[in-house]
Amino acid sequence: MNRLVLQLGGYWLAFTRHGKIFHKQLEQFLELNTLKVSDFQAWRSQQYEKIVHHATTRTHFYKLIRNPELLATNKADVRSKYELFLTRHRLDPRVRAISTSGTTGVGLRIFTDNFHMSSVAASWWAFRANFNVEFGEKGIVFGGRKISSHGKHAIPWVFLKPINQILASTYHITDNNIPHYLNILEKEKVVWIHGYPSALIPIARYIIDHNIDIQVRPKLVSTGSETISRESRALLSSAFKCQVSEYYGQVEGVCSIWRCNYGTLHDQGILGELTLRHAEDKGVSEIIGSGYWNYTMPLLRYHTGDLLLSTKSTCKCGRPFALGSEIEGRIDDYVLSSDGRKVGRLARLFTNVIEGDEAQLIQISLGKFKLLLPPNGSADKRKFKSNLESLLGEKITLEIEIVEQFKRTRSGKLKTVIRSF
Ligand SMILES: [Zn+2]
Repeated sequence: MNRLVLQLGGYWLAFTRHGKIFHKQLEQFLELNTLKVSDFQAWRSQQYEKIVHHATTRTHFYKLIRNPELLATNKADVRSKYELFLTRHRLDPRVRAISTSGTTGVGLRIFTDNFHMSSVAASWWAFRANFNVEFGEKGIVFGGRKISSHGKHAIPWVFLKPINQILASTYHITDNNIPHYLNILEKEKVVWIHGYPSALIPIARYIIDHNIDIQVRPKLVSTGSETISRESRALLSSAFKCQVSEYYGQVEGVCSIWRCNYGTLHDQGILGELTLRHAEDKGVSEIIGSGYWNYTMPLLRYHTGDLLLSTKSTCKCGRPFALGSEIEGRIDDYVLSSDGRKVGRLARLFTNVIEGDEAQLIQISLGKFKLLLPPNGSADKRKFKSNLESLLGEKITLEIEIVEQFKRTRSGKLKTVIRSF
């Protein structure tokens, strides 16, 4: 049943998100990259003014804000007062609701329409075009969708013919199953691969450890939804022998960021206005977006809660809107010290201390931590503990546990840091 629903969904996607509007938007987005920066910027200002005018005249939420400087929204506003952002009735047949499971466990409902969804889909293909992937070329997505098993397949996957994409399960990636996944990549001759780092890294590690020369040369491996270290990007690149990049977006579709071949993160510039607000932590900024295309539920100066390490303003690649070097996770990815301080950016703790590609830190209570490692992982416990103690400014207890599976969010994402209290 689940497979049939997904396959029918493929047709639905082909007709809605990849229809006329999609092609018009994609053409426009690709052309923007050929323009002078000043012309690109002028186009952006025009889109921003249009959506601000629409939001401030048509939604109850923004109508009340007289001073445009004060326009600001966050997830809590949208969660509790979503109807104030709507310009159409939520039961209008043109309106689509998307529910997110939410990384903090509290779901969010975003209302959108075909115009917005087609624009977001076009931004993905505009991103892939930077790596010479053309629209319609075959790809595989390791996403959070649960896919039921099928008699003839050793692992669950489904081919969505109308959009020429394979959906593969991220819930079945074990050393026993990885040869089956590699088999799909080779047989289906995929041109691009996209997935959570926590899905793609074990596959890449397997390829390297078993010295496998895979019989497929994708043009691009891209990751999203979770943070990825420079070392893991290098691992993906040597395993798949191709370009590796990253795409950052959100369900809300208010802005997008991608990584160029020089390793720099760029504001893509086509989904929305992006601003950075300095967070408490030095060098880190929160990503704030004003989406250009959601006329059903415009979100202006929307605080995404995602953090970026902003370091650069120019890039050797010559493309505009360079932003920084790393997506740093979420504002709510922190542990608490006994005196109530929130300590974030913990991914740095894992560098040079953990052997293996992934680990997960769980804070059980104040001063009490557990570090989860995969069966082939190991860590310098003393060093990890003292690094964490110096960040927190207090003594802690740390336990290390080897686990077959990490804890994942409902959508299958792997969070590096979890507070379980
Ligand atoms: Zn660049």
